[in-house]
This record gives sequence, structure tokens and C-alpha cells, in this order.
Amino acid sequence: MRLLCSQCGQGYDAGGAPWRCGCGGPLDLDFHPEFDFRSFGGREPGLWRYREALPIEDRSSVVSLGEGGTPMVPADILGAKVHLKLEYLAPSGSFKDRGASVLISHARELGIEAAVEDSSGNAGAAISAYCAAARIACEIYVPEATSSGKTAQIEAAGARLVRVPGDREKTAEAVRKRAGEIFYASHYWNPYFFHGTKTFAYEVVEQLGGRAPDVVIFPVGHGSLLYGSYIGFRELQANEVIGAMPALIAVQAEGFAPLSYLWRGMEFPGSADKAGTVAEGIRVRKPARAGQIIRAVEETGGEVVEIGDDEIAAALAELAGRGFFVEPTSAVPLAALGKLGLGEGEIVIPLTGSGLKASLDVSRLVCRGKK
Ligand SMILES: [Zn+2]
Repeated sequence: MRLLCSQCGQGYDAGGAPWRCGCGGPLDLDFHPEFDFRSFGGREPGLWRYREALPIEDRSSVVSLGEGGTPMVPADILGAKVHLKLEYLAPSGSFKDRGASVLISHARELGIEAAVEDSSGNAGAAISAYCAAARIACEIYVPEATSSGKTAQIEAAGARLVRVPGDREKTAEAVRKRAGEIFYASHYWNPYFFHGTKTFAYEVVEQLGGRAPDVVIFPVGHGSLLYGSYIGFRELQANEVIGAMPALIAVQAEGFAPLSYLWRGMEFPGSADKAGTVAEGIRVRKPARAGQIIRAVEETGGEVVEIGDDEIAAALAELAGRGFFVEPTSAVPLAALGKLGLGEGEIVIPLTGSGLKASLDVSRLVCRGKK
């Protein structure tokens, strides 16, 4: 397998590749699977039913906890008919298990014995779970404010938890040194992760009976689900499973909206913005793949929008009131619905992470004023 720099085109062998190109650019897999989509149909549900489309050559290396195969349910909500895909029902409680399963399978294929990852919580919980399953030693760097539900998951899986004072970017800086010493299982630098999250697109198309939706709305920090889905829909298009690409819409939280600024051709003020958003999963000010995410949105006729905490809280209450107990970040796409002015098209919204990981936040946002 070859990796190619998305900025300068430099090639690397997957075995000895650095975590990013010498020029600083993120690496992509030079992998273009060909398959008969109908052949997946009769198999067990889950991510590995798409094995011919996944970049793992040695099947004995596959690390699986039963990820993928999440339900998609229709809902008439906030004046729109949408399909909610329940990614929070994954083994570790978020869609990140898709990426972790493929990435840690790759690590096992390489004979890796120790890995490090930095995360706002969900990716750390997923990587630590899959490392535990693969018997790979694991270190997870998190911002000190990370929800206790997520840090408990990480430590319970046996990973070494490193709490870094300051914001998400401080955590990313702190992990850099360690990334030069052991395998960096990054959910935003390592391209194998995106070839796990791309299966979200495969499942959506299968669940819609072989069609692509018109629109998919994602919460975006580092964009691991949006960009992975872009890869997935492109592969389905190349294999003539779908015709047009769905519009991919990126939703960011105020104060953490570098892509929204980039989209409008403006410079992101960065640290001049406010310190927090309730959407902890997307508190990212420097997305590694900003250019690729913007191109994916642009090419598919999507857009980038920004929403505030009050809108997130209202959408979270709406979901919780219908029985969908998700974390605040999962309410971000629904919170943007009103701003998008979408027509009659078929809309898919992933509910990315479980509310059980951040129950105190959910309680604070949804239950206030109910006493
Ligand atoms: Zn490069």
C-alpha cells in the first residue's frame, strides 16, 4: 500500500510512512477499491461486510468489536423529514469506532506494539478500546476539561491517560514529541482512520436501498466523519453504485469555526474567540485537513455553517425529548437545520456520540429550568 501527500504528491510505503509528509501535508491512501456492491448484501451487518473496499490485506489482523451496522431511523423533527443514523450505538459509543477498527487493524498488520493518540475524548475512547482488543499498549492525550465519562472509558481500557492543561491545540502540540517515538494512531492525520469512517457512506446508501441521499449534515471539528464519508461516496460513485454525490454540509460551533471563516474567505481570529462551546467533540481551531474538507464541501455543493450554544442546547433537548440520548456535539447538525433552508430533499444526520459519556453536560443543558 502507498501513501501520497495531499499537498506535494510525495509517496511513502505504508510500512515506514511518517505521520505526515516532510512538507507538513496530510497523507492519503493511494487506494481505489473495485467491488460489486450487491455482493455485500447477504453478509453479516457491520463494517467488515465491506472488506473488499477496506485497505487491510492480512485478514487475520482485523480487530473488530462489532462496529458499524448502526440503525437509521426516519424522524419528522423541527419541521423537516430526516433520517437519523444512530452512530452512538457503536461499541465505545461513537462513530469513531469505524476509524479505530480499520486503523488498529492496520497497526496490527504492521506488528505495532505501542500507540499514542490525542483526542477530545471520543477518538481516545475508541482507540484505547481497539488497542485493548489488539493487545497494543496505548497512551491517550486529552485536554484537561474532557468529560469524565470519556476519560473513564480510556483508563478502564488500560490506556495511559495524559491530561494536558489548556485547550485542544495544546493537547495536539503535547502529543507531537511522542508521535515521533511510537506509532501515532491519529484520527485526523492517519488516512487509515478515514477508510474506516467512509463505511458510514456505504451503510447510508445500502439503507436507502442503493441510493445516495441529497444532503448529509455533519458536526465538524477535524472532519473525520465528513471527509471519510466524502471518500466513501466517491468510491461508490466510481463503482457506479450512486450517480450524483450528496451535498456534504459542515456545521461548526461559534468560537471554533476555522472552516467557516475559510469558507467565507476570511481569516480565523483563533484565540481571540471565546474559550468554550458545549460541543466538546468539535472544539478544534486548527483542523489538519482544512483544505481537503473545504474542497469536499465545495465539490459536492454543500456549505459550511456556524451555530451557537443556545441553538445546540435547543436541538439537544429536542432529541432527548424524543428518546435520543446523545452528547451535545451530536445535536449540532440538527441545530443548523433552520439556517440551511433545505427543500424537500432526503436529509441524513448522524447522531455521533452517546449522551452517557457526557450526562452532566446533557443534564445542565436540557434539564435546566425544569425543576
Ligand atoms: Zn508533502
